[in-house]
Amino acid sequence: SEVLLEVQNLKTYFPINKSFFSKNKDYVKAVDGVTFKLFKGETLGIVGESGCGKSTTGRSILKLIEPTSGNILFEGKDVLSLSKQELRKLRKQMQIVFQDPFASLNPRLRISSILEEALLTHGIGATKKERRQKVIEILQMVGLGAFHADRYPHEFSGGQRQRIGIARAIAVGPSLIVADEPVSALDVSVQAQILNLFQSLQKELGLTYIFIAHDLSVVKHISDRIGVMYLGRMVEFADKNQLFAEPLHPYTKSLMSSVPVPNPESKKKDRIILTGDVPNPVNPPLGCTFHPRCFACMEVCRTKKPRNIEVKPGHFVACHLFEPERTEVRDQK
Ligand code: SF4
Ligand code: MG
Repeated sequence: SEVLLEVQNLKTYFPINKSFFSKNKDYVKAVDGVTFKLFKGETLGIVGESGCGKSTTGRSILKLIEPTSGNILFEGKDVLSLSKQELRKLRKQMQIVFQDPFASLNPRLRISSILEEALLTHGIGATKKERRQKVIEILQMVGLGAFHADRYPHEFSGGQRQRIGIARAIAVGPSLIVADEPVSALDVSVQAQILNLFQSLQKELGLTYIFIAHDLSVVKHISDRIGVMYLGRMVEFADKNQLFAEPLHPYTKSLMSSVPVPNPESKKKDRIILTGDVPNPVNPPLGCTFHPRCFACMEVCRTKKPRNIEVKPGHFVACHLFEPERTEVRDQK
């Protein structure tokens, strides 16, 4: 299938001043060499604990945050070298849905004005009447009746506000939507409705999604492929079914054993308990950054950064266990 977006060795570092007198700048390596391709019409789930760089990855792709280095090719165009004017055109193609829709909706504006503003920014609809008609159409597409158009954000429930957030994103006719934890703040019952809405809009409009979550159970439902992030790196990347059938990276395994399993038989399996917190990204551990929390940590892991290994076609893992010469060690574990 066709590639919509290609991300090559993306790095986004944030400078921090450790001390006023220190000569060398220190950096938080929020995204530290992320590479993947996104195919038209697919959903890529990006999952990881908070602080792993998943939001920064999403925002860097949309250039809402300035990346430090790497390449971002959207339909072959190099996003990072575009002029402001070209970038504005591209923004129409790439939209974001935030975790907290209320914070991103102007409380003083009626929903119709919020959506109309998005249309105006991108020159959609020649007349007020045309835009009004479009607003009603979009509201209906996200499951809100026309009568909602003249209400204010505070008059809506959390789920309805997220529908408005989605409406604003689809209003301008994008091909890619980055959804940054769009259901994390919602009740479980509402989560399912919003996930279903994402899926039906994808079918209807041919959308491509990057769907960011901290919870594997959320991305499992919606994704075609999944990338697992840890401290700025994509530590495992695979087709969704392949990842759940054969998780390889110890971190992925840990995450999976914390997903509640409805089948009582599988509950009997030993659960890998993820111990410790995510390390301080200002001072990440040497070698494999997961090593202080890893149940399979070896000597080499403390000093050497693992490379990305394609274990099966399309299934990547960054872990020393999967270096060909360690296959024997691995099989004993
Ligand atoms: Fe664990 Fe070593 Fe693999 Fe890192 S490289 S996940 S520490 S086994
Ligand atoms: Mg986040």
